[in-house]
Amino acid sequence: MNLNDYIRDIKDFPKEGIVFKDITPLLKNAEALKYTTEALFNLIDDKEIDKVVGMESRGFIFAPLLASKLNAGFVPVRKPGKLPADTIQETYALEYGTDVLEIHTDSIKKGDKVLIHDDVLATGGTASAVCKLIEALGGEIVQCNFLLELDFLNGKDKLEKHKVKSLLHY
Ligand code: AMP
Repeated sequence: MNLNDYIRDIKDFPKEGIVFKDITPLLKNAEALKYTTEALFNLIDDKEIDKVVGMESRGFIFAPLLASKLNAGFVPVRKPGKLPADTIQETYALEYGTDVLEIHTDSIKKGDKVLIHDDVLATGGTASAVCKLIEALGGEIVQCNFLLELDFLNGKDKLEKHKVKSLLHY
């Protein structure tokens, strides 16, 4: 199955100059959804995982599906003010300005083996902030796994010391 047939480019979304990779055609197709979940699962080398961490909001789609297959838990990383209990936060740079992500302090135990998942790896700013949050809680990042990677933005470089694998490359 060629997954590229189920991912469409939306020009100038959410703002001018950005070509947005829209995965909703893939999500609404039962066969493509199942195939993608299996393929993302097969990308994971070490399947001894305690927690799968997904970032708001499109990381929330496949991360729990992978967690269920791994017999692991799912942990959400969210924008500020969304998580109700005690959190720690990480500020990271965007093209213009900064953004903040939060995680519950009780979501990861010291020594937990963690898989990170998001739909798109672009500049790597988001994933690198998530890595910092997990490490601050004592988690061990086993792998960072993406549905698609925009190779020309070199996001992998920001995750240098971590194993990064993506299903599709653009
Ligand atoms: P970055 O921090 O630059 O790696 O951006 C990653 C986050 O932004 C991910 O959560 C993606 O879902 C989203 N994102 C960035 N660029 C795109 C794009 N071209 N198409 C779809 N989502 C994107």
